[in-house]
Parts: sequence; structure tokens; C-alpha cells
Amino acid sequence: MSDRYQKFVLDLVQRPGNSNCADCLSPNVEYTSFNLGIFLCEACASIHRSLGVGISKVKSIKMDNWSEDQVKCMEACGNLKAREKFEQLVPTCYKRPRDKDPQVLREQWIRAKYERLEFMDPEKQTYLAGFKEGYLMKRGKDDKKFQRRRFVLSETDNTLKYYNKEDAREPKATLRLDEINAVIVPEKVGNPNAMQITFEQGSNTRSLFLQAETGKEIVDWFTSIRSAKLNRLTIAYPGATEAELAQNLTHSFLMEGWLSKTGPRQGDAFRRRWFTLERRKLMYYDDPMDAFPKGEIFIGHEDKQFAVRDGLPPGIKSQGFCFTLKTPDRHFHLSAEVLEDKTKWMQALESVISQPLSPQDSSSNFGIKQNKKAKRISVLNLVRH
Ligand SMILES: [Zn+2]
Repeated sequence: MSDRYQKFVLDLVQRPGNSNCADCLSPNVEYTSFNLGIFLCEACASIHRSLGVGISKVKSIKMDNWSEDQVKCMEACGNLKAREKFEQLVPTCYKRPRDKDPQVLREQWIRAKYERLEFMDPEKQTYLAGFKEGYLMKRGKDDKKFQRRRFVLSETDNTLKYYNKEDAREPKATLRLDEINAVIVPEKVGNPNAMQITFEQGSNTRSLFLQAETGKEIVDWFTSIRSAKLNRLTIAYPGATEAELAQNLTHSFLMEGWLSKTGPRQGDAFRRRWFTLERRKLMYYDDPMDAFPKGEIFIGHEDKQFAVRDGLPPGIKSQGFCFTLKTPDRHFHLSAEVLEDKTKWMQALESVISQPLSPQDSSSNFGIKQNKKAKRISVLNLVRH
């Protein structure tokens, strides 16, 4: 009897919406929450288990036994119906996790959806308020220690400020919201609730590393930043849809990791550096959490002499798994520690090089400071084309 039920559940997986995880859209559906009537991947199922059976009752499709009542529950609901209920009011600025996103984004999405019922009640979406004040641990630029700092975000002022002293009147720094990027970076910081904020300081890119006490707190800050940025863009570009503008709020790193590079002179030795690739900007650091990179390389289009080639030119002593990044100004000789890393880096760089520049890419070509008006035009073009 139980086999027949299991076969029926497997057939249900083929119905529209059920063959991708209800929460992260992974195509590897192996579990269900049979009281919620949804189909899940393994990673999301394990978060559902942690919610407790009062909220979600998890069952493996193939490894557990099924009863008639449970099967009926699955048939009556399914991922599409559950989404209509639990995702009825997801704000456009909220970053829905995909299966490769950090665990904290996945977990908070699931908790927001089924535990806090955040997307059924706008009053619970405090990150849409346009103002947020609170404490985060910020890594010191020089002493590298995490210290408690007060942060204040204001959508009206377009600012994110932080204060060194509790009673300080003047902020230690005031960042422009429309010029910052925010990325959740648990592995780099060694903390599940960590965020990196980058912005231009002078002609360099500055990074801040922040930690929150809870997953909810860091995701609330992340979403508050995205919400404020989106609201400001919506006012600036009334002709664009929120969905178009939302693609432009924060950008994850396309690639990150250790590579070695040689200096600019023939015969310079390889030195190990931490590389990050964000949109068209390749940066390298002594240490992954340095406040400033040692170098920034703009990655342009193949029409402008940008290219990636396997190996090194003759005469350069090779080590590990080498490749060459060609730019009009300089050829960079790079080396990965394992073949797989070399392949991934070459593919990531090639995919950027093969894409024509968007108007926004041209305006963020560093070294060239654009005035406000030019920036506005560039974003406008981005959403129109
Ligand atoms: Zn999933």
C-alpha cells in the first residue's frame, strides 16, 4: 500500500511548480513538508525541520512511509498554491535565495515565510520603513578587531552612517546609499551573519566588514539597504518597473578566491593575492578582509583588447595552473592552485569580457568620476534597454 502512495507523491512532483524546491527553486526535489503541502530540496528541508513540527512536518519522498491522509494533503496543496498564500506580499526589494546563496539568506527567507508570516502582513516588514538604527560589529581598518558600532540608515537623506562612540554627535563616516554595494559574506568573515559593504573612497574601493548577532538582524539590514535604494530609484525613474530597478540594488561577487600574480616587470615573482570579481571590476588584496585592495582592474569588452588566454607567454616562468588576462594597459599573469579554480576564473572573466558594456558599466569605469547627472542618465538607460 505504502509503495502505491509513494508512487503517487512522485507523480505529484511532476505537476507544475512542484519539480523545483518551494523555497530556493533548486531542481533537486527530494523532500516534502506534508502539513504545508510543499516539495523541497534537502537543504531547505533541513531548515524546515529546525522550525519544529508545529510549523513544518518534513518527510522524505522516497525514504519515509506515506499514509493516505498525508498524500491527500500533498495533492490538495502543492508549491504553487502554497506560494499564493505564503508569498502574497513579498516586497520587490527582498532577495529571494537561490540554491547557491549563503545559508543565512535561505534560512531567513524560510523563517520569514512560514514562521514569522512576514509576507502575509506588511506591518511585519520593518525593513521597508526607510529608516533603521541599531548596532553592528564592525571590523577596524587597522586593528582588525570587531567593535560594536551604532549604524543609522536614512532613505530620505540617502545615507548610511556609523558612529564610533555611543554619544558621538558626528558620525565616523557617512556613506551614500546609492553608491554602496552590500554582499552577505559568511565564509570570508567566518561568521554566518556577516556582510561586506563596498563603496568608492577617493579613487579606491573601500570595504567594511560587519557582523550581526542574529541571522534576522543581518538580513534585515541587507533588505533595508535594498529597500531604500529601490524606493529612491523608483522616484527618480517613474517610467521603469520596480522589477527592472530591483536588479540593480546589490551585486554578489561573480568569483572570489586565491590566485597568484606576477608584478609588472619581466621576471617578477608570483605573489598570492585574494581576488574578487564584481560586475566588471576585478580587485586583488593581500588579505580577503583588507579595507582597500592592492589593485583594481576594469574588465572591458573584447572589442577593446580585453581577453583571457590559457597559459603564459613564452619566457615567463610558470607555476600551478596559469592563465593570462589581457587588458589594453597590461597583461596580467595569473596562477590558480588547482585546475578547477583556473577553469572557473577563466570562464567567469570570459563571460564578462564577451558582454557589451551597459551604460552603467561605462559610468562606473573607475578613475573616471561622473557627476550626478551623468549617473542618473546611465541608470535610466540601463532600465530602458
Ligand atoms: Zn531549496
